[in-house]
Amino acid sequence: MKNFSFKTIEKVRLSIKGSDEKFPVNHVYCVGRNYAAHAKEMGADERKPPFFFTKPNWTITTDDVKYPKYTNDLQHEVELVVAVGEDMSIFGFAVGVDLTRRDVQGIAKESGKPWFSGKSFVGSAPISDIIPIKDSDHLSDLELKLKVNGELRQSASCSEMIWSPKEILCEMAADIPFGQGDLIFTGTPAGVGRIQSGDMIEATITDRAELTFKII
Ligand code: MN
Repeated sequence: MKNFSFKTIEKVRLSIKGSDEKFPVNHVYCVGRNYAAHAKEMGADERKPPFFFTKPNWTITTDDVKYPKYTNDLQHEVELVVAVGEDMSIFGFAVGVDLTRRDVQGIAKESGKPWFSGKSFVGSAPISDIIPIKDSDHLSDLELKLKVNGELRQSASCSEMIWSPKEILCEMAADIPFGQGDLIFTGTPAGVGRIQSGDMIEATITDRAELTFKII
């Protein structure tokens, strides 16, 4: 290896369903308040446009998640994740969970500080394999579900998004240099709630993508 001061850090890679290739994860973007009913349960005006935040790519995991430090209120947010391909096309999608230290996020909100510590900790972005998109796929037809220990907690259609994935991509492209390898968590529907050590989380998108992990 030449021209680097030290060994470069290996990229996070995700499996692609039906393929031997891997999806190399670059940046991880998240959309806040993209479903009216969730904006309402968070106490926000449901007509305000969504906004963006990021998680470092080391938050991505396909394993069980260790209950993080500094919180007594770890919450699940099931989300459609859009995987960006070349030329800002939609390469595929996945089901992901935007795990959140809600109490830490609440303190940050109150004091006007960034959400970083509420949203970013090791394992805070569990995700399924990437499902390559087909011409016949309409992301708005997909249904998101999340169960905790077999009990249904979140269930919604992606058609309920305030901003569609394509609108989100357009909005982002106008302002930031996003590109292949980026993942976009497109916001969570209503029904977010607390989870604890020992809980088994199952998240699905229709019958296309599934993710199961335990809080350990
Ligand atoms: Mn979220």
